[in-house]
Amino acid sequence: MRAITHIVMHCTATPATSDIGAADVHRWHLQRGWSGIGYHFVIRRNGAVEPGRALEKKGAHVSGFNAKSIGISLAGGVGANGQTPVDNFTEDQLLTARDLVFDLMATYGVPIDNVMGHNEVIAQITHGAPKACPVFSMDRFRAIITDLQDAEVDVEVVEQWGSDMADDDEVEESARTHTVVSGDTLWGIANRYGTTIAEIRTANPSISGDLIQPGDVIRV
Ligand SMILES: [Zn+2]
Repeated sequence: MRAITHIVMHCTATPATSDIGAADVHRWHLQRGWSGIGYHFVIRRNGAVEPGRALEKKGAHVSGFNAKSIGISLAGGVGANGQTPVDNFTEDQLLTARDLVFDLMATYGVPIDNVMGHNEVIAQITHGAPKACPVFSMDRFRAIITDLQDAEVDVEVVEQWGSDMADDDEVEESARTHTVVSGDTLWGIANRYGTTIAEIRTANPSISGDLIQPGDVIRV
């Protein structure tokens, strides 16, 4: 796998009414004389993610910045006239994009600041001709990813605690009872569990005298 440092967000610059997927973009990019779809993923209007160019292959989506980046394109981004930039993306698309980018960041160790819009890469890195792409707000997009990261950390903490508590319960449960076997004495059991005969008697009022029988379950 090539080294990945950035994830670059795009739009297909199609109207909201166009149900565009990876196969459509592939066809357009072939028509441009490229080796096929230049993006690594396309997210349809309904939020379905479709794979484009293989991730290990350099994309063709941002001039001068393809080698170490992943390109993701959301279907949409222009008005009904097919030209005016319009943030017309669906909630489903943005949530899918958020989850996809979140996973890719984790897989390739990409920091949130390196999740950039096409227009940001041009403005800050390649200094090419300005573009509106991806049209949606990258500040907002990075914010919802950061929110997801924070939420995941909370879940991990809860799971960690949960498993610790479960382990403790299990240890206590198994340490709490002893099944008497032939030859056991209260003194021997008390010694084995680090307790005293008096404590065993207190915890097991049913024991009379020193009389314990194999098969008795006693609290220790
Ligand atoms: Zn773009």
